Amino acid sequence: MSELEPTPSVFDLIVVGAGLVGSACVLALRQHAIARDLRIAVVEQALPPTPAAANAPWGLRVSALSPESVQFLQDAGLQKHWSLLRPSPYGDMRVWDADGTGRVHFSARQAGVEHLGVLMENAALQTALWQQLTPDPGLNVYAPQAWTSLERRLHDWQLTLANGDTLSAPVIIAADGAQSRVREAAGIAVARRDYHQRGLVCTVSHDKPHEATAWQRFLTTGPLAFLPTDHPQQSSIVWTLPAAQAKAYEALPTTEFEQALAQAFEHQLGGVKLLGERASFPLVAQQAEHYCRDGVVLIGDAAHSIHPLAGQGVNLGFLDAAALVQALVAQRHAGLPWSHERAQRQYSRARRGHNSLMMHAMSGFDALFASELPALRVLRNRGMSLFDHSGLIKQRIAQTALQGRA
Ligand SMILES: Cc1cc2nc3c(=O)[nH]c(=O)nc-3n(C[C@H](O)[C@H](O)[C@H](O)COP(=O)(O)OP(=O)(O)OC[C@H]3O[C@@H](n4cnc5c(N)ncnc54)[C@H](O)[C@@H]3O)c2cc1C
Repeated sequence: MSELEPTPSVFDLIVVGAGLVGSACVLALRQHAIARDLRIAVVEQALPPTPAAANAPWGLRVSALSPESVQFLQDAGLQKHWSLLRPSPYGDMRVWDADGTGRVHFSARQAGVEHLGVLMENAALQTALWQQLTPDPGLNVYAPQAWTSLERRLHDWQLTLANGDTLSAPVIIAADGAQSRVREAAGIAVARRDYHQRGLVCTVSHDKPHEATAWQRFLTTGPLAFLPTDHPQQSSIVWTLPAAQAKAYEALPTTEFEQALAQAFEHQLGGVKLLGERASFPLVAQQAEHYCRDGVVLIGDAAHSIHPLAGQGVNLGFLDAAALVQALVAQRHAGLPWSHERAQRQYSRARRGHNSLMMHAMSGFDALFASELPALRVLRNRGMSLFDHSGLIKQRIAQTALQGRA
């Protein structure tokens, strides 16, 4: 280093991206007594979200959290604020095929659990996670702050921020989402599949109560989900559509859109009224070829993106974070340094295969329900009905899905 270059601030770990997964990962790690000596830097390009008014309708992005994700978040420090996050536990899930008789009803009661999962507004969860990320001697938060270069040196990585500061650490955790620039800088390739679909999202009110039920109708154009918010007559919509159709629905006059939505949903909850804006997101499945390389570790959407039809995306990310934290802590207890490769490899082995399986299952479901081949239509309708009456098998699958495990 020449005399003119600034001295980097030295850390054990740099986490790039403090979205839901990155911030939860940092908080979970810091819950462990052995992490007290750990020096972490968090670099996030965005401003923290502004908390919404207490009884405002939910924002556009929501997550269906599995019981395992709920536990992970509560253990990471959100337990005491949980009720302020307006959680909406759902006890039933009804799934049916648009052009047939196939139906499946999952029930928490039948599965012997309290609820199937919890719906939560992303912005509320993100705000709560951010509030816990308070800087102290072990934690430096650089936000909002972009970075301009990431360079591999002999024993560590050096990250240069847009304000000229330089940070260095032997381990970089990339939690910077599906377009991860850290992944790119580390030269990790991704296998990508474009569904040529978009997920149209909005919040609506409806005539009938949702009865704490997550509803999903499979149309040949893609699934349409009504997800119950904490208001008995308001739901969050995720409507998967071919890209051009999603754009057209996004631009429809409000009344026409409301009618199209209610009709696509077979008026199960009566008439619907749009609350706020509509937006749509391109749907891609992607998987990084490696989850770790030379001290860069990918978690959450930086490692994988998945079709939202099973609402698993962020749950897989929280499972990644939990597995990485567990491997790092075990390594430290074994007397190895935080930067040793063992934990990174262990994490990658634990998560990559599992996430691949989940992604292929979701792609398969999407293709099966999109098919108009008569034989496949009969098969899926019969299959759904048989499955609905399969008692123990259905109960077992529901319990497995609740753990977010394929
Ligand atoms: C339509 C739709 C509906 C969905 N519904 C569900 C659902 O019901 N349930 C579910 O589990 N999942 C759902 N998902 C998926 C879920 O939203 C994602 O899996 C989840 O948000 C990923 O979280 P993340 O923290 O890994 O990434 P992100 O949420 O993308 O966060 C990345 C963070 O990194 C920051 N960042 C990015 N680049 C940089 C940079 N260069 N420098 C610094 N910071 C940076 C960003 O500002 C952001 O804060 C849905 C997805 C879509 C598209």
